Formats: sequence, C-alpha cells, structure tokens
Amino acid sequence: MILRMSTLFVRTLREDPADAEVPSHRLLVRAGYIRRAAPGIYTWLPLGLRVFGKVEAIVREEMDAIGAQEVRFPALLPREPYEATGRWTDYGDGIFRLQDRKGGDYLLGPTHEEMFTLLVKDLYSSYKDLPVWLYQIQTKYRDEARPRAGLIRGREFTMKDSYSFDTTDAGLEASYAAHRAAYHRIFDRFGFDYVVVQATSGAMGGSASEEFLARSEVGEDTYVRCTSCDYAANVEAVQVRPPSPVPFDDAPAAHVEDTPDTPTIQTLVDHSNAAYPRDDRPWTGADTLKNVLVVLKHADGTREPLAIGLPGDREVDQKRLEGMLEPTEVEPMDEAELARHPALVKGYIGPGVLGTESASGIRYLVDPRVVEGTRWITGADERGHHVYDLVAGRDFTPDGTIEAAEVRDGDPCPRCDGTLQTARGIEMGHVFQLGRKYAEALDLKVLDEHGKLVTVTMGSYGVGVSRAVPVIAEGNHDKLGLVWPREVAPADVHLVATGKDAAVFEAAAALAESLSAEGVEVLYDDRPKVSPGVKFKDAELIGVPTIVTVGRGLADGNVEVMDRRSGERTEVPVGDAAAYLVGVVRG
Ligand code: ATP
Ligand code: MG
Repeated sequence: MILRMSTLFVRTLREDPADAEVPSHRLLVRAGYIRRAAPGIYTWLPLGLRVFGKVEAIVREEMDAIGAQEVRFPALLPREPYEATGRWTDYGDGIFRLQDRKGGDYLLGPTHEEMFTLLVKDLYSSYKDLPVWLYQIQTKYRDEARPRAGLIRGREFTMKDSYSFDTTDAGLEASYAAHRAAYHRIFDRFGFDYVVVQATSGAMGGSASEEFLARSEVGEDTYVRCTSCDYAANVEAVQVRPPSPVPFDDAPAAHVEDTPDTPTIQTLVDHSNAAYPRDDRPWTGADTLKNVLVVLKHADGTREPLAIGLPGDREVDQKRLEGMLEPTEVEPMDEAELARHPALVKGYIGPGVLGTESASGIRYLVDPRVVEGTRWITGADERGHHVYDLVAGRDFTPDGTIEAAEVRDGDPCPRCDGTLQTARGIEMGHVFQLGRKYAEALDLKVLDEHGKLVTVTMGSYGVGVSRAVPVIAEGNHDKLGLVWPREVAPADVHLVATGKDAAVFEAAAALAESLSAEGVEVLYDDRPKVSPGVKFKDAELIGVPTIVTVGRGLADGNVEVMDRRSGERTEVPVGDAAAYLVGVVRG
C-alpha cells in the first residue's frame, strides 16, 4: 500500500488549535488525524482512520481469541428496554433522546446492556446454550457534561462492549477472568503504561468491578495504590477505614465560644489557638467539622438539599461525591437556596440545625471519620460563634455516612497498615460483574438441568476504542510531534523524496513500489515543489516510526533511514534499502 502525500487528504498545521488543552489533542489535530465537528464530536481523517482501524483490529483479535462473538446493534434504540431497567430516567441529561415522526421515544445508545440481554432472551432458553459471550464495536452517544481533551471524552465515541451470560456464579467468575485477561493483552499491545484498580459500579449496578487506567498526568481519574500491599483503587471506590469509637464519658460538655470573623477553617484554627489553646498540641483543621451544603438533582427531576460534614482539613471531592450518589447529580447550594433555610447561618453552620429531625430538616451525612465519641469544633449556628467539644453520638447524630472527602497522599490504606499514594490516569477499560440485575429487570431466565427456571447472571466489559487513539498519542509523542508504536502507526515507513532531481523521485518511487510489494505500508512524500524542511517537519509531526530520505545521498548510492523515536540515522545503499526496511518493519 502506498499513500502519496501529493494526493492524501491532509493539511498539517503549524499552530496549535485554540481549544486543545492536552498534547494528544493538539497533535492529532495539527498532524491531520482528526477535525472537530461539534463540541465532543470529531471527524476521522484518512490518517486518523488508519490508526483507529489498527486499534480496532487489536481489540477484535483479542476478543475473538477468547471466543467472544461479534454482533452489531443499532445505535438508535427504542425507549422501552431502558424504561424497564430505569435507565431512561436514571441517565438524566446524560443521554440523547429523540422522537420519530409518530411521537415514539428513542435514544442514542450510551451502552447496550438492555439490548444484549433482550437478544439472548429472544433466542436462548436453556442452560445448555450458556455460557455465551457477545460483543460489538460500535458508536456510543453520551451527552457528557464536560466533553474534554478531544477524543478522550467525546459525546460520540466508539466502545467495544461485551457481555457474558452464565447460569452460575462460578461461571460468571470465569467469564470475568477471561475478559480481564484479554484486556491485559489488548492494553499490552497498545503499549500502555496502565494499572488495574478497584472501581465503583456506577449506573450499571452490580458488584465486582475493576478499571484499567492508563497512567497519565492529563487523566481525569485519580487512583490510589498502597505502598505496602497490592491494594489499588479508583478514589471513587476508596472506603475509608473508620477509626474505633472513642469513649466520651469524661468528655467536657459542649460550650459555645465567641469566634468573631472566622468564616474559614484557617481563621477558625488561628483564632482557636490564640483564644482557646489546647494543652497537648495546637488545634488543626482536622479538629474542626466543616459542613458543606449541596443540592441533589435526582434523575426524576426533583431537588433535595443535602449537608455533608467532614473534617475541616479536607475538601469535598466532587467525583467521589457524585460517584456515591449516582445517578443523582450534585450542585453547590447557591445563595438563593441557602436563604430559603433560615436556620442556616452561612459560615457558622453546625450539626445543631442539620439532620432530618432538625430545624432545617436537611439530611445530614458525615465522613466515616466522624465516629461516635469524636470531639469537634464546629459552627454554633449563630454569626461569629462556634461550639467546642461537640461530641458525635452524644451531642449530635447524623443521618448516616458518606464517602465524599478527598483522598490524599499518605492516607492510611483501608486494607493494611501502609499508606496510600495518589496518581492520575485515564479509564481505558472497565470490567463488571453485573450479576442478575439486568436479567431480573428484563426477565432473562433459562431452564437448568433439573428443568427449573433460573435467572441468568451477567458481566459487562467495555474498552474505549476511540479513546485509545489519543491515549496512545499521550504516551507517545515528543516536542516535534507524534511517535506511534509500530503496531498502530498509520503506515510502516514514511518515505521522503527531497530536491528537484528526477533521479531522486524515480529511485524513491521504485523503493515505494518494492516495499509495497513486500506488504510494507508506505506513506510517500512525493510532493514536487515542497522544501525538504517542510517535508521533514511533516514527517516528524505525523510520527510514522521509520522515516526514509531519498535525496542528496543518492549521488553516492545511499538513502538515509531514521528511527523516529531515537532519532538514530543509518545510511543504507539504495539497492539494499527495501530488504533492510522489511527487516526493520518486521522487527
Ligand atoms: P468515565 O468514567 O471516563 O466517564 P465510564 O465509566 O462512564 O467512563 P464505561 O461506561 O465504563 O465508561 O464505558 C467503557 C469505556 O468506554 C470506558 O472505560 C472508556 O474507555 C470509554 N468511554 C466512556 N466514556 C467515554 C467518552 N465520553 N469518550 C470516549 N470514551 C469513553
Ligand atoms: Mg467505567
């Protein structure tokens, strides 16, 4: 195969696109791989589509290799199945809904659990038919609140989603293990630096669930790893190990103190150390109980205020909070809403007016560290006043706990005595044991060996196929441009002919033909009136792993072969060039 730069549909750009925040986005646009069509929606250009095709082929090969069978559902789906599982509503603003000319409701599929479940129900009825693993590589639509970083978080994107159907829990375990192993092979072939972490199961429901995160500073996911044991989890899934309850028989009675001008934790800590110093150690933010008000936007459209109590030295982690409450969305409580609750005194809100049984009637959930017997400095619900030695379980009783506080470097491991370290990543794959939730909702049952109807148990497994392209680019670029790993590069060799000499173009064309005859994919820069400087810049930007120059050296019978990654150059006699390059390409 020969792609000729003189006719290839590509325009490389010298300037970064204004809206691109991450290197992969900038480079994929500049090198002519993708173009934006609308926010979070992109067009693949010929070079981009070639990389996409290779990524897709890797995923398909590895899914076929474990015995999963490919199908393809429509992207345009009827409402009813999603109504049956509650997701028509649960997805809230997250999906695209539309109507046909008769007023019938449809959606553009964000993921296809319902459709796969119904398909198996349609055709299978016996335990003898199971297990079965089905997958598709298909376009998904999600009206993401924050489309970002080009193809990394799109509103239209390609996912490989597979689903396993088993009659027994042991069967589900085995299906899950097979998918997990296939994912290792897929991500190894992508050349990802990745980690597998425990995950929450989100809108899908279900139990065991892990994510494959490509390590990346530009990632939106934060995960933790223990420095002593093998615990690794998305911060959304971290469950803080609560301290043991503290005896409080000897605790002093709570007392309200004057704390003028202390609307923030720092001002409160400073004032406390100055006015009410402790004997043993200074007060810190961790001694204060901060109460944060938010408004929950439930999927059915109703709104509910919620108070979250957490140690004052920690912020609320929005993603952890949303993860806990999914599919409900969370907004900060604005001034107008705050004003509707007269019991709440901004900056001095305390447990005294929080909780469903309290003056405000606002549900009050606290961080798991707020265990019985812990003593706090917190708002006294009067301007300029805080209450000291307020004891949890004695002076206030929250409605429950919530994992919403940020997880920090050095936090204790939930599983051992070690400490946690945080890092960032991009979710590339997700494996879930869904269990019987969807099968129950859609009544997928088969006859077991005793002729009894049993509910099928399912797994669901996703890979971000379109996302993989920018994520590979994130891990494989330098200041000059992209540097594709060989297995996904848009071509094997970028052949550059330089100068005006007809002999150069003849030799280059002949080399391109010989390579192509050997099955090597050649991107041939045959543009007659383009300077060598521009051609090299384009080659470096486009990032094919091997760049071959036919130019001045031809007078001495040589071509130059450059490794794009190392920059290493080798002179090769033109007569040997084809054989030499076949060797390079085949490794
Ligand atoms: P995220 O947490 O990043 O929003 P998710 O948990 O909603 O992802 P899943 O429903 O598990 O995603 O989808 C399976 C895979 O599809 C993800 O692991 C990810 O690689 C990919 N994916 C999900 N959303 C997007 C998107 N908006 N754009 C591109 N790829 C996506
Ligand atoms: Mg996920």
